[in-house]
Amino acid sequence: MTDLATHLARLEDHLARFRRGGILNLIGGQDEAGEGWFETRSPVDDSLIAQVALGTAATVDRAARAAKAAFPAWAAMPGAERKAVLHRIADLIEARAEEIALCECWDTGQAWRFMSKAALRGAENFRFFADLAPGARDGQSLPSPDHLNITSRHPIGPVGVITPWNTPFMLSTWKIAPALAAGCTVVHKPAEFSPLTARLLAEICHEAGLPPGVLNLVNGMGEGAGKALTEHPDIKAIAFVGESRTGSAIMKQGADTLKRVHFELGGKNPVVVFEDADLERALDAVIFMIYSLNGERCTSSSRLLVQETIAEAFHARLIERVNRIRVGHPLDPTTEVGPLIHQTHFDKVAGYVAIGQAEGATLAAGGGRVGETGCFMRPTLFTDARPEMRIAQEEVFGPFLTSLRFRDDAEALGIANGVAYGLTGYVWTNDLTRALRFSEGLEAGMIWVNSENVRHLPTPFGGVKASGIGRDGGDWSFDFYMETKNTAFALGRHKMQRLGL
Ligand code: NAD
Repeated sequence: MTDLATHLARLEDHLARFRRGGILNLIGGQDEAGEGWFETRSPVDDSLIAQVALGTAATVDRAARAAKAAFPAWAAMPGAERKAVLHRIADLIEARAEEIALCECWDTGQAWRFMSKAALRGAENFRFFADLAPGARDGQSLPSPDHLNITSRHPIGPVGVITPWNTPFMLSTWKIAPALAAGCTVVHKPAEFSPLTARLLAEICHEAGLPPGVLNLVNGMGEGAGKALTEHPDIKAIAFVGESRTGSAIMKQGADTLKRVHFELGGKNPVVVFEDADLERALDAVIFMIYSLNGERCTSSSRLLVQETIAEAFHARLIERVNRIRVGHPLDPTTEVGPLIHQTHFDKVAGYVAIGQAEGATLAAGGGRVGETGCFMRPTLFTDARPEMRIAQEEVFGPFLTSLRFRDDAEALGIANGVAYGLTGYVWTNDLTRALRFSEGLEAGMIWVNSENVRHLPTPFGGVKASGIGRDGGDWSFDFYMETKNTAFALGRHKMQRLGL
């Protein structure tokens, strides 16, 4: 196993060029400085990683024009050729997986043990959608007695992709790969807290032979470059991953240009543990799904609903394990939880510790800072919470678990559904009928029964209520990035009304 010192030395080699020249935008295949610079800093020690080119509305306009100019040729390219380009991108991601993972850990604070796999997941996303590219245009034949109706799909045009900072590389590939496979061109605005790997992805795509202008990278602030992208008339759709209130702002911003939107937003996902469950596995899943990825994960199970008959014993084992979670340097392979992305986010999560205490829940584990520098926080657990408390209602987006007790299925369902969000739900029971009935009533876009979040790329991904609009994955992604056209051919001389005879 590679150790921390080796990781740090290799990271230094990868960062040297960014320290010298900054992280540039990439528009129409050309590197571009911005209309100024902003800094990206590491949450490990607040050290400067690099200056980043600041994109503004003018930068976005150039990028949107480049995407528009590149669109006709890319859209017309046979699917088999787009497939080959996307597979070459996946090859290069795999070849540079270590570099991507090192940069991602340093920029975001995510632990190496998870990020090394996330880089490879990015390659998988490209391969999966590459293989679907040749069939993306396929439609249906819907004959009526007098017409043959044929549907076909066509890429919608240049699209904007706006991504968050929690697992930026994986999420960017998840959005950009299907857009390119569909024949769309893209302007990508990554999160200002984590610009490093978006730059690597744009470089890789060009190295793999993606024509200039097909993927354009504009760094900048949400209210600047992000807003301009959502308002640009040449951008036909916005694929957005981020907070629910940002989604709401984007919907307003895009109204004048009638943007199609796809939103993957926040969550306050329940994991429901019934007394008849395999409690050993349930415990592993509960811990993994809130404390992996620093809890900065939209699908995290941030609310534990545990049946009161087993609550005491379950909590006792949970507290013991949570207290043993290893918080440390994200590039140390033994680290389980790294630092939170940024001081402002640390303050938000720490603020919820104070809120939970003021609300009268029991702080059963964690709650405090680790070390003097950086954004390290002890994995935190509140027990004895009530459903109406803010720590049981609001997305904290950190290593922060709120536990609530329930008596029976009906009460559990009421608590589970009693929040604004509806992204995922996790149900632990060995009673088949209960599992079926409970998941039927659960308000969530994705449910796992006796499992943690195990993603299968052909399945739909997305949320209900304040957690999102639309679905990704498999053919659902093409529904978003493409327009469906119906053409009706008369099969003969059907009866037609004749006016003005
Ligand atoms: P955020 O909404 O603050 O920012 C996301 C992106 O939107 C950034 O690139 C930001 O610059 C941009 N942005 C901000 N304001 C904008 C505006 N007015 N117009 C256009 N763009 C704007 O989210 P975040 O803090 O970066 O990420 C955390 C959030 O993302 C959490 O709520 C989390 O649940 C959510 N998330 C959801 C999913 C999912 O699949 N549902 C996945 C990952 C993260």
